[in-house]
Amino acid sequence: MTNPLPLGSTIGILGGGQLGRMLSVAASRLGLRCHIFEPGADPPAGHVAYEVTTAGYDDTDAIAAFAQSVDVITYEFENVPADALDALESLTPIRPARNALATSQDRLVEKQFIADLGLSVAPFAVVDDLESLEAAIQIIGPHGIIKTRRFGYDGKGQVRISEGSDLAGALEQITSAPAILEGLVAFDREISVIAARSTSGAIACFDPGQNVHVDGILSTTTVPALVSDDVRSRAIDAAQRILEALDYVGVLGVELFVAGDDILVNEIAPRVHNSGHWTQNGCVVDQFEQHIRAVAGWPLGSPERHSDVVMTNLIGAEIDTVAQLSNESGLGIHVYGKADTKPGRKMGHINRVVS
Ligand code: AMP
Repeated sequence: MTNPLPLGSTIGILGGGQLGRMLSVAASRLGLRCHIFEPGADPPAGHVAYEVTTAGYDDTDAIAAFAQSVDVITYEFENVPADALDALESLTPIRPARNALATSQDRLVEKQFIADLGLSVAPFAVVDDLESLEAAIQIIGPHGIIKTRRFGYDGKGQVRISEGSDLAGALEQITSAPAILEGLVAFDREISVIAARSTSGAIACFDPGQNVHVDGILSTTTVPALVSDDVRSRAIDAAQRILEALDYVGVLGVELFVAGDDILVNEIAPRVHNSGHWTQNGCVVDQFEQHIRAVAGWPLGSPERHSDVVMTNLIGAEIDTVAQLSNESGLGIHVYGKADTKPGRKMGHINRVVS
């Protein structure tokens, strides 16, 4: 058990997007400060954090100064270069620890790790070139998704293939990066479990939410998910096993496919997750506060849900409807303060409290 960080301590966050912003707000409510490290100018988290460092991950002086100015380091962004992590870790603890990043950064490593825990995943095979893609199709079948092993998010770095697809063209679309071929899962629904583990090993899981994606981007999360008690408890059990196997500290998102009575783990995110935003208006302690409590060595809050919620992302120009939406009762509005509105960009979200 680690000593809890005292009030006034500083949490360093790698990444200054909306997740860092909402983590900073939660930390400040608890009397803790956040220092954001972000290469891009004017990050959304910078509007609400105590301090911001604007520097690249290759700026060794800035990295060292950042690490020395904070009591613990966490992240809202998984693709932090290994050299930067080495330098940070030599000065200040990183929570969740590096093994969680190493596992989730690479889809192949992630899938093997999950399968080794005895949990089901979609069938997969390695794709390095046309020859291995053809071999993978022999194993998986012609209908699947080629997914890059690294740097994929919001459906990026993915190409669907079926019988007669131009395979060389598909590989070109993912710039011939190392990839896997995943078999298509005929799922009934997608759900996710937002799970947390403290420095003392206590675990708290929020109720699974049901997710709808449009064009590979999360559109809505609805709680409770329309699943049986058995599916719900097996999904939570899967998340607990992943947390324990990683000796994890912090909040972790686990995305699952539900197909009949089967559940398959799609992917894990070692951070707060878009599909956990509903907790801001559905629980007394939301996922952001829960993550801050965990990385600060504090006890976890109760994950109990006091309301049913539908979370809807505001993508691109949908953010312009906020003034109109603010007339509606029972609506939690969360705007990220991004300077530029772009198609496909997550600009904010709303939580409709339905009971
Ligand atoms: P991912 O980036 O892996 O989370 O994929 C984004 C979305 O694509 C998922 O949430 C699903 O809606 C869909 N998808 C991904 N993998 C599969 C699969 N193997 N079978 C069917 N749909 C998938």
